Amino acid sequence: MKSFSFFNRAEIKTRLATQHYDIIVIGGGITGAGIALDAASRGLKVALIEKNDFASGTSSKSTKLIHGGLRYLKQFHVKMVSDVGRERKIVHELAPHLVLPEKMLLPIMKGDSMGRISISIGLKLYDMLAGVKGDDRRKMLNRKKTLETEPLLPEDRLTGGGLYAEYRTDDARLTLEIIKTAYKNGADILNYVEAEDFIYENNLVSGVECFDHLNKESFAIHGKFVVNAGGPWVDDLRELNHSKKGKHLHLTKGVHLVVDREKLPVNQSLYFEIEDGRMIFIIPRDKSTYIGTTDTDFEGNKDNIPVTRADAKYLITAVNDILPSIQLSIEDVKSSWAGLRPLISEEGKTASEISRKDEIFISESGLISMAGGKLTGYRKMADNVVNMIGKKMIDKSVPGCKTKKLPLQGNSFSGPREVSSFIQSVEKKLNELDIPRHYAAYLVHNYGDQTTVILKDIENQRGNDPEVKLILAELHFSVENEMVCTVLDFVERRTGRLYFHIETIQKYRKEILEYFREKFSWSDKKVEEEKNKLNKTIENSQNFN
Ligand code: FAD
Repeated sequence: MKSFSFFNRAEIKTRLATQHYDIIVIGGGITGAGIALDAASRGLKVALIEKNDFASGTSSKSTKLIHGGLRYLKQFHVKMVSDVGRERKIVHELAPHLVLPEKMLLPIMKGDSMGRISISIGLKLYDMLAGVKGDDRRKMLNRKKTLETEPLLPEDRLTGGGLYAEYRTDDARLTLEIIKTAYKNGADILNYVEAEDFIYENNLVSGVECFDHLNKESFAIHGKFVVNAGGPWVDDLRELNHSKKGKHLHLTKGVHLVVDREKLPVNQSLYFEIEDGRMIFIIPRDKSTYIGTTDTDFEGNKDNIPVTRADAKYLITAVNDILPSIQLSIEDVKSSWAGLRPLISEEGKTASEISRKDEIFISESGLISMAGGKLTGYRKMADNVVNMIGKKMIDKSVPGCKTKKLPLQGNSFSGPREVSSFIQSVEKKLNELDIPRHYAAYLVHNYGDQTTVILKDIENQRGNDPEVKLILAELHFSVENEMVCTVLDFVERRTGRLYFHIETIQKYRKEILEYFREKFSWSDKKVEEEKNKLNKTIENSQNFN
């Protein structure tokens, strides 16, 4: 099989246009990616198309946690918390380099809506539902211990805390590794291809009319079942299918801000209640700390979701209130992102009250739409859809789900211990190459064992600056193996540099653009366009109206 590269797009497209598929998936977020992997690994013939880049929708804009959703316990969504909570460990085992254990500190303050006893019971129940064992089980801390754990908390208002286990990840990379694993299992997958209409046979959906945004060509894909995994766009596709009846999506916007770790030097992740009763995360990551999230109704342009000054102020006020010695200002924000929760509308409920449960809708013409849910539950959601399709498939018997034991690309590790020793060996190698050692954890958490390929390639890159050589080797790897087609694919979704190492993009912008010019034979005009897009994205992530 040829590598998953822009330079093999034509071949993949020819297959998409000429073969007949068991399942066509629309949408390359985590939901679509999970379905493609589940179905391909069961031996089904799968096509997946994504109108933009993989994970460019909600799946790169989340809080980046693999979590059961502690707050949903308050709403008595016990089954959902239990199902999703149990998935955490499985997803960690599928990619131990990318899904990392992360302890959360829940400080208890005077005046909070929940006191020590309710929090203690809540966290215990959370652990029980998710099957958390041993040292990972929640620990209730007294005031002194809570302060030792996080000295920035205000002594006068603090009464204690609860420490419990979650996992953190990079949502876009998780989505991408699932996509790559699906491709390796035989799925035909392309980004920048939009489903524009449905094809019908005897009034049943039998394919998709598509448009390739990169070379402006239309083509059709034919298959037995079409799954709409369009996230916030699910209802647009249902409308195209004339089936947007009954339940529909309710979109809410969630914003995150990133500041330098020095400005917000928390020891570890915090999850705390704010004045309006909502819960906010503060999560340290590499040399940055991020804060999120807001939850407000959204009805604007889904392709351009702004972070407003009000959003930024809301989060900054929350931080300054819980950690009064910090006093962040809007000028401290070095990056940000905003995403849409594709929730299923519930009469009379506010944004924060609507359930995060996933649901499947099947239209009269057979379009299968999947909405709601969480990043964390992607594997189970996929299992459910593919089981359902398996039962409807008359010409094939479909085996059971295989993804529970199917490591994602980048994972050949026996477990977290081997990941740690691999990071140490990468540190040594970086040291020999004069590259700062802190890149070791970044590389391994992003690429897992694929880091070896990148390290080997560093010496082949141009220039004298070792950090430029590293970024170019990463870029080369992503272009050759991860279907990078644009500068933003690389800086935003393959590396997360736009959010967590934005200064490196500003510093190495010229070299990155030069690589694209040469490798993709871009004209001056195209280079200028991509440069402007990059500059605009950086500007929007730092300035708010
Ligand atoms: P998306 O990621 O939006 O994917 C849908 C894709 O379909 C898009 O890429 C879009 O371009 C594509 N598409 C649409 N129309 C077409 C078309 N016509 N043709 C081709 N492609 C099309 N979950 C967690 O588990 N942990 C968290 O910490 C967490 N935090 C969150 C924080 C926020 C602020 C938000 C908004 C959500 C959070 N979630 C979290 C939920 C989680 O992010 C989402 O449930 C999940 O990412 C949804 O994935 P999706 O694939 O359904 O949608």
